[in-house]
Amino acid sequence: MTEPAARPVGDCFAHAPLRPWTPVDDALASLRAGVRPVAAFGDAPIAEAAGRRLALPPIAARDNPPAANAAVDGYAFAHAALPPGDPVTLPLAPGRAAAGHPVPGPLAAGQALRILTGGEVPAGADTVVLQEDVTLADGAVRFARPHRAGANVRPQGEDLRAGERLFEPGHRLGPQDLARLAVGGVARVAVYERLRVAVLSTGDELIQPGADPAQPGIFDANRPMLIALLAALGHTPVDLGAVPDEAGAVRAALDAGAADAAVTITTGGASAGDEDHVSRLLQAEGSLAVWRVAVKPGRPIALGRWRDRPLFGLPGNPVAAFVCTLVFARPALEVMAGGRWRAPLGFQVPAGFAMDKRGGRREFLRARIGADGRVERFRSEGSGLVGGLAWAGGLVELPDRAMRIAEGDPVRFIPYASFGLA
Ligand code: AMP
Ligand code: MG
Repeated sequence: MTEPAARPVGDCFAHAPLRPWTPVDDALASLRAGVRPVAAFGDAPIAEAAGRRLALPPIAARDNPPAANAAVDGYAFAHAALPPGDPVTLPLAPGRAAAGHPVPGPLAAGQALRILTGGEVPAGADTVVLQEDVTLADGAVRFARPHRAGANVRPQGEDLRAGERLFEPGHRLGPQDLARLAVGGVARVAVYERLRVAVLSTGDELIQPGADPAQPGIFDANRPMLIALLAALGHTPVDLGAVPDEAGAVRAALDAGAADAAVTITTGGASAGDEDHVSRLLQAEGSLAVWRVAVKPGRPIALGRWRDRPLFGLPGNPVAAFVCTLVFARPALEVMAGGRWRAPLGFQVPAGFAMDKRGGRREFLRARIGADGRVERFRSEGSGLVGGLAWAGGLVELPDRAMRIAEGDPVRFIPYASFGLA
């Protein structure tokens, strides 16, 4: 595998020799065109629906609030029936309106009724005066003339209307959405099953957590990282373990993944070397749609199919595996899981660093917001530095073209949270 040749910043032929490298946007477009929802869906109680994607739009069964009610503790009355003058005095009607209790009958014009927060506003009333703003004497309330009809009242249906579509299909439900479903009287929703995503590490050098640290080898960092990442994205990870660089072992693991999961993510062995069995197997026995993507970190990445199931063959390098999962696998998995294709939400933040970026590839820097509000980058771009992922709070995305970044220039920062991570 060859790297794009280094060239001076601003070289107008920057893209010419890079034809074989697929730009990130092209790789994303080809992924997007090739994925569709594959998860089954069924009915689930809303308490089990958080983090899942809607297959059908839930419909509100009632208005919220179901009836006009008081926003404060006070006294309800009809604004139009206030006697002339300021302050005004209204005789108190018997009874009171409290949340969860039947409202007393219609209020006569020119009377006031004691009402508590959440209590239904009786027929004949439309306004509530705050209890702190009244004086009580001889069975009457006296208060300064309010200028606005409807003050301190939450009108019926101001939050939502019966029959309203609460969310669109593909929406991933968050805790806040369960509150909206609940007040709309929705108890069950049609949601997709979580997508099963298989994870496989490949490499002769890999040893597993718990192994004697004195043993030769590299601890398998990708599997725990990717399994946790997939769970955070709302999928069901399927652990295929780690296999050595041996075609038979890789093939058997890929078969297991295709049998038990809708999609597989592998790390390692995606390049063009002698021991790169993932890319070789895809070419020989599966299909390889996109291979060399112009992204740093991340080359090579192999997007293809195995036993007709999509497969992401990511680099073994943990930094590249992480970034490529977020950038390429995340939106595709979201669609397969029944969700929508969404670019991560990024923010323009002044750079706290200067650099010359070369052209012809997209770059993602491990970055975080510093105390001065500028975005700092990790001390090194070395993609073997796993610690930089933990140091960072997100990624800076630099466009494909060559550019010179001076301190203070705006750069696009994508917090980990925009990818759905803690
Ligand atoms: P590869 O993509 O197989 O050429 O691997 C690239 C680099 O990533 C090599 O230095 C590997 O040792 C390392 N690597 C591969 N898989 C893992 C893994 N699961 N955890 C940590 N490092 C890995
Ligand atoms: Mg390897």
